Amino acid sequence: MNIILLGPPGAGKGTQAQRLVDLHHLRQLSTGDMLRAAVKAGTPVGIEAKAVMDRGELVSDAIVSALIGEELDATPETGAIFDGYPRTAAQAASLDDILTQRGRKLDHVIELEVDEDALVERITGRYTCASCGKGYHDRFEQPREPGVCDRCGSTEFKRRPDDNEETVRTRMAEYRAKTAPVLPIYEARGIVSRVDGMAEMDVVTASIEAILGQ
Ligand SMILES: [Zn+2]
Repeated sequence: MNIILLGPPGAGKGTQAQRLVDLHHLRQLSTGDMLRAAVKAGTPVGIEAKAVMDRGELVSDAIVSALIGEELDATPETGAIFDGYPRTAAQAASLDDILTQRGRKLDHVIELEVDEDALVERITGRYTCASCGKGYHDRFEQPREPGVCDRCGSTEFKRRPDDNEETVRTRMAEYRAKTAPVLPIYEARGIVSRVDGMAEMDVVTASIEAILGQ
C-alpha cells in the first residue's frame, strides 16, 4: 500500500501518519528527512545532494526521485506514506514512474480537511504551563482554578509566538498553494478521499482506516 497523506499544519497529520506507520507497518517518506539522512549516511544520492546544497542550490527533482527510489529499494516489501511530496505535476509524474518501475502504485491520497476559522480558534487559544508543560486552551480546556495549573500549581503560562491568527492563515494559504498543483491530478484518477481533520483523533484514524479498507 502506497499513500499520500495531506493536511495543513494543525490538522494532526503527524499523529495520523504515525498511527498508519504503526497499524500498517508503512514507512513515512518525508523528502526533507530523507535528504538529511542520505547526506549524513553518505549514500551516492546523498553525496550528490550535498554538493548541490553546498553550492547553495535547490536539490533537483531528479535527485529527489533518485532518493525516493533508493528508499523504496531499501525496503521493497514495505508500503509508503509520502509526506511533502509531490508538490508539482512533474513530481507527480516522476512518482508514478518510480512506483511503476517497482511494480507499485499509488493507492490513496487522503486529505485531512479543516475548517480554517475553527483551526484559527483551536491554535490561537492554546497555551501551556510554563513549569510542567501541561496543555490548556482558552475555550476548550481551562485550569479548574483560573490561573493555576491543575498538575503542578504554577501560575505561569506561555503561548507559542507563532500560534497567532496571521501565521495560521498564512500557513493555510501556503498549504493550499502547495497542494493545488497535484490534487486535481489525483482527483481525476478518483483516488482522493477527504477526512474531517477537526474531529477527535481516534475518529480521524477510524475514518482513514475505513478508506484504506475499501
Ligand atoms: Zn503545570
